[in-house]
Amino acid sequence: MSIEVQNISKSYGAQKALDRVSFSIKKGEIVGFLGPNGAGKSTLMKILTTFLNADEGVATVNGNDVTENQKAVQLSIGYLPEHNPLYLDLYVREYLAFNADVYNVSKSRIEEVIELTGLSPESHKKISQLSKGYRQRVGLATALLHNPDVLILDEPTTGLDPNQLVEIRNVIKNVGKDKTVFLSTHIMQEVEAICDRVIIIDNGKIVTDKKLDKLVSDE
Ligand code: ADP
Ligand code: ADP
Repeated sequence: MSIEVQNISKSYGAQKALDRVSFSIKKGEIVGFLGPNGAGKSTLMKILTTFLNADEGVATVNGNDVTENQKAVQLSIGYLPEHNPLYLDLYVREYLAFNADVYNVSKSRIEEVIELTGLSPESHKKISQLSKGYRQRVGLATALLHNPDVLILDEPTTGLDPNQLVEIRNVIKNVGKDKTVFLSTHIMQEVEAICDRVIIIDNGKIVTDKKLDKLVSDE
């Protein structure tokens, strides 16, 4: 399994964000994590990416426990947080080079991820000069630098205009071909456009988990 989540619970004070959440994702699957704002999507993703500890339960990524083996988990994951902090004053290549150093990634990989995410026409610019869609490509390119097996994308298309949305979805489908992808959204069309399976969360609880053709034919 690429991602294994067993009975994960998490509260912020009295606010229960996740209530015994369980599911597993196989290598190569593209899974949508669908739910309204406040459902618990970001919280689960932060637990999987080792930024937050669960109160209860066990989670592994590529067989590595997210609390016991954080470094191995981080190396196997490319994470695009919902509010990706970009250094607006840096040029695209400077920003990628900065992150490449953190991961000890070769400079040639920078050109590869620029190509993969369709950044080439804008890659000579400063991040502050880029549209939202291109900034999101920079985020995706950063997540891809260390060529992770697993991509965790938190609301990757929220706030994008319709053109950019279609393009970013295509980039995700393309780069996700040989990876496991777990992406959150509050829009069903996003799941239909990209994913082969949907896990629906509401109020911290998993309410649906099924293959997409099944979900559509049920309705
Ligand atoms: P989603 O990503 O689905 O919008 P979140 O995981 O961000 O949901 O939030 C789940 C619940 O936990 C919400 O009720 C949210 O307000 C609450 N929450 C999230 N982060 C915090 C925090 N740092 N402190 C207190 N409550 C939080
Ligand atoms: P993200 O979860 O993607 O970082 P958010 O806008 O959901 O972005 O939250 C921004 C910050 O505020 C996060 O650290 C989140 O945990 C925290 N937060 C979210 N909801 C609440 C809440 N109800 N009370 C306190 N902090 C919250």
